[in-house]
Amino acid sequence: MKNSIPAALCAALLFFTPQMPGQAQPRPQPRPAAAKPKLVVMIAVDQFRYDYLTRFGARFDAGFRRLLDRGAVFSSAFYEHMPTVTAVGHSILLSGAMPSVSGIVGNEWFDRATMKQVTSVSDASVQPLGAKGKEGASPHRLLVSTIGDEIKMLGRDKCKVVGVSIKDRSAILPAGRMADGAYWFDKPSGNFISSTWYFPDLPAWVKKFNESRVVDQWKGDQSYGRMAETKTGNDVVEKFAEAAIEGENLGRNGGIDLLAMSFSANDTVGHAKGPDSPEAEEITFHTDKVLGRFFSFLDRRLGLANVLIVLSADHGVAAVPELMRQRRMPGGRIAPRTVLDAVSAALNDKYGEAKWVLGAGGSGPYLDHDLIRRSKLDLAEVQATAAAAVRALPHIARVYTREELRRGLASAGLIGARVRNGFYYQRAADLVVVPEPYWLFDAAGTSHGTPWNYDAHVPVIFLGPWVKSGRYAGRIQVNDIAPTLSELLQVEPPSGSSGRVLTEMLRR
Ligand SMILES: [Zn+2]
Repeated sequence: MKNSIPAALCAALLFFTPQMPGQAQPRPQPRPAAAKPKLVVMIAVDQFRYDYLTRFGARFDAGFRRLLDRGAVFSSAFYEHMPTVTAVGHSILLSGAMPSVSGIVGNEWFDRATMKQVTSVSDASVQPLGAKGKEGASPHRLLVSTIGDEIKMLGRDKCKVVGVSIKDRSAILPAGRMADGAYWFDKPSGNFISSTWYFPDLPAWVKKFNESRVVDQWKGDQSYGRMAETKTGNDVVEKFAEAAIEGENLGRNGGIDLLAMSFSANDTVGHAKGPDSPEAEEITFHTDKVLGRFFSFLDRRLGLANVLIVLSADHGVAAVPELMRQRRMPGGRIAPRTVLDAVSAALNDKYGEAKWVLGAGGSGPYLDHDLIRRSKLDLAEVQATAAAAVRALPHIARVYTREELRRGLASAGLIGARVRNGFYYQRAADLVVVPEPYWLFDAAGTSHGTPWNYDAHVPVIFLGPWVKSGRYAGRIQVNDIAPTLSELLQVEPPSGSSGRVLTEMLRR
């Protein structure tokens, strides 16, 4: 596979003639043989820092090797929002929309309409398919279109869109609202499941995959949960992606099909061990192998010249604070309840004992607005009291209130801009709390979610005969993936996309 140049790329190269000085400018190269990809594959690796490519790159010899050697590699791609968490990153990949527009403001938040803590994809109006006693999941909270939705709206019956991951949100959000199916892994049963949002019953190929117990080859004596959360979880996702391509005939439906797949295990390993651990290195090499296998499958089945591959990540991660201390860098741990406790104490103190805090999104508290109204208090003033208490805590860099953000009062600069882009008024917590760099609200391991660059810097790589391979050092946003795909596929840009077209890499 390493030595096979896609046929369309060869065709494009034939048209290239070296120019002598003084000659007329070369005519623009014609587009490659296949005008449009038959299949677009969006690959997300959950919690994957850009520097994994540079730190571990010398040892890659499979999938990452191919991407780095033949792809258009953007080395300064950033997320420009907070919180940098799984649901938000995955919602941006193919919508190009900030959380301030898409409404996907976190992995979970407190829903003021139902007075319940919800996840980005939880949906009581749909039924789970393939697992009993679970809450249903769907893209109903996603307010914007994705590339998949735009493809479907253009050529409804000729294009298929499928999402695949271990995590529900990572399968559902990139695929979008009109997807033919999104599938995620049910840890108790070891099955891939879905919901009635997509269909009344699981497709036959999914049932067949589950019944075959093909995933048991990676299970051994451990639980399915453990299998999914360690490197073998990536083998499982890859195998199911192959089954989805075969089951839905992706790439052969006469239009442009789209597969969004996300490897979740890298996140679990990273949380537990940190980005500088041998375990992070090991799972990165394993991912290289899994991607190599997947690309070989695509090449055999469809020919890689017909496939456009995009690889990115949903967020990065911080180094383990104890290691940072050894490095004489800042960093440490803030006990998880610190912010909520400080808010409750300050409000009890000033306005009397009551249950002022209803829920949380990340470290941001959701205050009881009814209680504040009944107590004839001013909401903005109560928020300011809470904010002052949090600001007084050690190692808190910034605190914004919901009313300040609604009125556009976030400070200028990197942090203010990223906080503003993460702010959707109807779903926002009453406070947005930003810790100092390398400070975590976690008792062990490490995490992500802040606007600092270690959480925001991720790879963006395009691979296929439609792009010029090479290294692109200019700063881009992950939000640029979606509008670039619209240009390449000639579909409308998704409704909330705020990025630009990466014209510098387009082969024309
Ligand atoms: Zn994570």
